[in-house]
Amino acid sequence: MPRDLCPFCPGSGKVPDDYDTFLYPNDFTAFSQNNPPFENNPGLFATTGSRGTCDVVLYHPDHNLLPSAMTAEHWSKVVDTWRGRTEQLFANPDIAYVHIFENAGEAIGVTMPHPHGQIYALPMVPPLVERELESARAPLEVSVLQVVGG
Ligand SMILES: [Zn+2]
Repeated sequence: MPRDLCPFCPGSGKVPDDYDTFLYPNDFTAFSQNNPPFENNPGLFATTGSRGTCDVVLYHPDHNLLPSAMTAEHWSKVVDTWRGRTEQLFANPDIAYVHIFENAGEAIGVTMPHPHGQIYALPMVPPLVERELESARAPLEVSVLQVVGG
């Protein structure tokens, strides 16, 4: 990405010229509601539809503002954006899981330094998350016994 061109900055033509936070579908989406439905086929070489949604959430119009430097008031606007989109996604019976995550830093391969994150929505709960939920629902005594017993 050229240093003097950021599509997330106001005035780029890609986003509104004036915004606090802004949500839009990811241009390079990993999931789409147009893909075939997910099928629970555990075969070694099984494939299934990459159905779901990918959104980009722009946290702030200031290209160089680190999320850690944003005010609590502005973070409240970001959280409102997350909450509104999550409610909208869960209104769709095809969505079973919503994952909101931060994109910051070259170390994780972020190509856009503009402060932003993403929201992925999937038609299934990922297996690791499902196991964590099952563990969290289990009585504490059972969890301790399972750790001690191996
Ligand atoms: Zn920018």
